Amino acid sequence: MEVIKKGPEWSMDVECTGYGNGNDGCGALLRVTLDDVFKNQVHAGNETNTYLTIRCCECSVMTDLARNHIPSDDIPIRIWNNAATGVRHKDGGLCHPNELNLTSGPPKSPMWETS
Ligand SMILES: [Zn+2]
Repeated sequence: MEVIKKGPEWSMDVECTGYGNGNDGCGALLRVTLDDVFKNQVHAGNETNTYLTIRCCECSVMTDLARNHIPSDDIPIRIWNNAATGVRHKDGGLCHPNELNLTSGPPKSPMWETS
């Protein structure tokens, strides 16, 4: 098989609002790619929700983009499937493993263990 034309690389423009994370974002407009978004699992009572989240490169506040693998016009399911698992940042909160240079191999400190 020969690729005639590759599919476009996914990106999305996101305002840093801190949505889902205290709403204390800086308002920067960010163009994010797969290398920026990460999955963030939150347990609340009996419920477990998974969020697709970014960490702002300006203010370090996290903003949730989507929840529970629900695809949208902005975020196709392949982004959910390929997004990295967030890892703890030394300054608190989570970030993409790339930010901590954990790109080689699986994340070294996954934020959650499945039991
Ligand atoms: Zn920000």
